[in-house]
Amino acid sequence: MPRRILVIEDEPGIRLALKDELEFEGFEVEVAVDGVTGLAAILRSPPELVVLDLMLPGRNGFQICEEIRTREIRTPIIMLTARNQEIDKVRGLGLGADDYVTKPFSLAELVARIHAVLRRTHTHDDSGILEAAPIKLDLRKHSAFKGDIELQLTDTEFRILTLLLKRRGDVITRDDFLKQIWGEDVYVTHRTVDTHVAALRKKIEDDLEHPAYILSVRNVGYRFNENITRS
Ligand code: CA
Repeated sequence: MPRRILVIEDEPGIRLALKDELEFEGFEVEVAVDGVTGLAAILRSPPELVVLDLMLPGRNGFQICEEIRTREIRTPIIMLTARNQEIDKVRGLGLGADDYVTKPFSLAELVARIHAVLRRTHTHDDSGILEAAPIKLDLRKHSAFKGDIELQLTDTEFRILTLLLKRRGDVITRDDFLKQIWGEDVYVTHRTVDTHVAALRKKIEDDLEHPAYILSVRNVGYRFNENITRS
């Protein structure tokens, strides 16, 4: 069965080009021309991946992201943005987009990113429960908890946290993260790792000024604190 991708884009030229290219790549492509019909399409039947334009009539990309993550739909999202400001990226990441492409983009680049996101969201580790109290990951159910509270993590954040917990106490370099989380994807940089870790910290740390769980190792990477003292 072909994998289904939903493209939510109000510019006809980009929408048609994406539909043609993705169908050529073997995907089944559904399109939506505004935020309201796009969101309805996701809620009706979540696709394998959503290509989501940021600026849309009806509901914008941020609102759609927030809405579907609130409903615990974990479909990977690649957001298209005309604005390159870092603040938008961070804001979007906090709402659960898995990757970004800035317009104008090449179709080849977008297709490469779609394959990279699908690759990493389909490589599930099913060895059970990983725990470093109060953080607990259920790898089979793909859910994360801090105490009794379920964390709303993106797939990328979940995988980063899984790697940190599996090797807790070890320093994990940014290159390790790139290799383990993004595979051979050539489009991500060390900064991508930092951005996702920053978004993850916002969800698990009590005090962002003094992270207690995910510790920075200057100029190298991160390690999960093996000696968490709960206050
Ligand atoms: Ca637009």
